[in-house]
Amino acid sequence: MIKRPRIAVVGSANIDLTTFSDRFPKAGETIFGQKFDLGFGGKGANQAVASRLCGADVFMVARVGDDLFGPATIQNFQKLGIDATHVKQVEGVSSGVAPIFVEPSGQNRIFVVKGANDLLKPADVDAAADLLRTVDCMVLQFEIPLETVYYSVNFARKNNIRCILNPAPAQAIDMNALTGLDYFVPNESEAEAITGMPVRNVEDAKKCAEKLLSSGIKRIIVTLGANGSLLASHEGTEHIPAFSVNSIDSTGAGDAFIGSFAVFLGEGLPLPEREAVRRANLYAGLSTTGVGTQKSFYDRTRLDAEWTARTRN
Ligand code: ADP
Repeated sequence: MIKRPRIAVVGSANIDLTTFSDRFPKAGETIFGQKFDLGFGGKGANQAVASRLCGADVFMVARVGDDLFGPATIQNFQKLGIDATHVKQVEGVSSGVAPIFVEPSGQNRIFVVKGANDLLKPADVDAAADLLRTVDCMVLQFEIPLETVYYSVNFARKNNIRCILNPAPAQAIDMNALTGLDYFVPNESEAEAITGMPVRNVEDAKKCAEKLLSSGIKRIIVTLGANGSLLASHEGTEHIPAFSVNSIDSTGAGDAFIGSFAVFLGEGLPLPEREAVRRANLYAGLSTTGVGTQKSFYDRTRLDAEWTARTRN
């Protein structure tokens, strides 16, 4: 029987507030918008939802604000079966929010207000330590303070817990703090921003991954959109192509990849990484066939049906 992985996401939870309008207002102007959508988002939460939909037991460590969105975010986790014992409300700050404005052309303007996400501290990781020691994998991103990310990487290393870091959104990093990290998973633009090397194709991604490996990280996966992913370790580098899908909105594809990859790794496939990457490519590709982020993620039954149909000889 396949093992049911236990995954902890130490990361962000945001509320996406999307307004669709004919045009953006000018300074000082008030105009009517056509449509509004409120959705649960934030890279941490998205990755937790992808892991949960793929069948893992998922534990979220996060902070939300003392506004309407705080309890709603916690309820959303609970509704999906994600353990939110370590999602705490912080007094006197807002939840993380992303007001997004979209024109008919698809052009968008986005603010991200970190709010309570910025108050997820190393002490919160310590408070969840007993739980974290029981998981197979910790998943991290960059929408919480970097000191908390470094602390969590170190916690995972000390406790022998597999750790996946998605360096998004990209920012300047102390690579020394990531020595011994199991998986570093940037997309093309994040890989480029972090290494200062251009990443326009698979060859570029290989060079970039080699540079990242030289800093002491064990494995690099560069996600390459419709081009699939590149998996690199000291044993070698392999390009793993994407599946062909009818892609209409790629928002959240990276989060779908990370969340599902953590699950496939934890299930202990015979050739863990390569096969896990292939399946994560499919899961993420399928998420681009629907609009939105969490709303476009497949559940395990639909994923398995697609996998069987596409890999049958
Ligand atoms: P991000 O959303 O972080 O920019 P990517 O665009 O690299 O991440 O997408 C993550 C993964 O999603 C890719 O590695 C690939 O497996 C899958 N994917 C993304 N876009 C497509 C597409 N158009 N067709 C098939 N797969 C895709």
